[in-house]
Amino acid sequence: MKEKYDYLIVGAGLFGATFAHLASTRHRRCLVIDKRNHIGGNIYCQQDNGINIHRYGAHIFHTSDKRIWDFVNSMVPFNRYTNSPVAVAPNGELYNLPFNMNTFYKIWGVKSPSEALQKLNEQRCEAIKKMETDGVKEPRNLEEQALTLIGRDVYELLIKGYTEKQWGRKCSDLPAFIIRRLPVRLTFDNNYFSDTYQGIPIGGYNKLVEKLLEGSDIQLDTDFFKDREHLSSLAHKIVFTGKIDEFFNYRFGMLEYRSVRFETETINNPNVQGCAVVNYISSDVPYTRIIEHKHFENFGDSVYENPVSVISREYPAEWNPGIEPFYPVNDQRNNSLNTRYQELAQKEPNVIFGGRLAEYRYYDMAPVIAKVFSLFESDTNL
Ligand code: FAD
Repeated sequence: MKEKYDYLIVGAGLFGATFAHLASTRHRRCLVIDKRNHIGGNIYCQQDNGINIHRYGAHIFHTSDKRIWDFVNSMVPFNRYTNSPVAVAPNGELYNLPFNMNTFYKIWGVKSPSEALQKLNEQRCEAIKKMETDGVKEPRNLEEQALTLIGRDVYELLIKGYTEKQWGRKCSDLPAFIIRRLPVRLTFDNNYFSDTYQGIPIGGYNKLVEKLLEGSDIQLDTDFFKDREHLSSLAHKIVFTGKIDEFFNYRFGMLEYRSVRFETETINNPNVQGCAVVNYISSDVPYTRIIEHKHFENFGDSVYENPVSVISREYPAEWNPGIEPFYPVNDQRNNSLNTRYQELAQKEPNVIFGGRLAEYRYYDMAPVIAKVFSLFESDTNL
């Protein structure tokens, strides 16, 4: 390869692809590399029996920022998928999420918002009184935090087992900050997100990423660290969206993650669970969720047009090097390690670090795009 690029973009995920798009509109030449054999990073969709499979977990685009919504829709039209997950509680019953009047009616038989609020407040007060009796001022762990926010009934039915599976630890051993607030909706509304806009690109996320990458050169199956010197020499600047600790050769130690393992199955049944997302709360069930992918793009009777369906069971997993890193573990050790790496990053004038791995933070898709926008707005030389 002889060309000189303005940017070597490490990672063809949403951050890298959005950066490539905005840079290309400024007539910058971009080479986008990814160590995977596909573009899209974690929003990549794999086709199976004509269904887009969210290979790295269910992805629902949601935002209240009209600018971001208009931007993604200018790349590819989005449908109006509304996420309305259902939870299977340890008692085997189905409950609506997020916690709303349908959930409270099913748990307590309450029929009006004021009855539900009264019940919630009774339970919250019980938890606060118990803490006071024990001489505890602030919730010491996630369990105490959840009890003060939502009360024992909802906690035990719909939070405890799920959270313990997710983190691989007891709620009483998890830090309180993981649950800062638990949204409660006193309306009969099963829409999980409160954002104005929500949906899935028609035809899947690959269409969005392909569009964003138009005009850029792409090289897959290419690990930056396997050929760092040569790849770096191809461009004036690097946009790095991989793991920040790896970029600095793990100088201060390794950042930790939680991972997820997906087990995908094709089933001879056009409509297995009747919605895209079902959460399994009980600790006796090893997976946290089952995703039925066709419901992201097929609504109503159109689910029956395809006689088969594809489901993925999500198993939370310990993370080890070599396993896909999914969720940053934002405890004290990892946060302070990350701060030290971010300080090193500030001293690299020719490298722009961005995205979930380089910033070591959980990022929804819309904020990733907003972050790239803000970079270009704050620096007209990009
Ligand atoms: P990634 O998508 O991870 O892209 C980084 C890319 O860099 C990867 O392709 C990787 O292979 C590549 N790379 C890394 N190191 C190297 C290297 N050394 N050399 C070459 N390439 C490299 N957000 C929502 O808005 N809605 C949702 O419903 C939602 N669901 C989610 C579910 C799960 C299970 C998870 C984990 C996240 C979810 N997200 C969701 C967040 C969403 O996935 C992120 O916002 C988005 O993927 C971030 O894009 P990124 O480019 O920062 O990272």
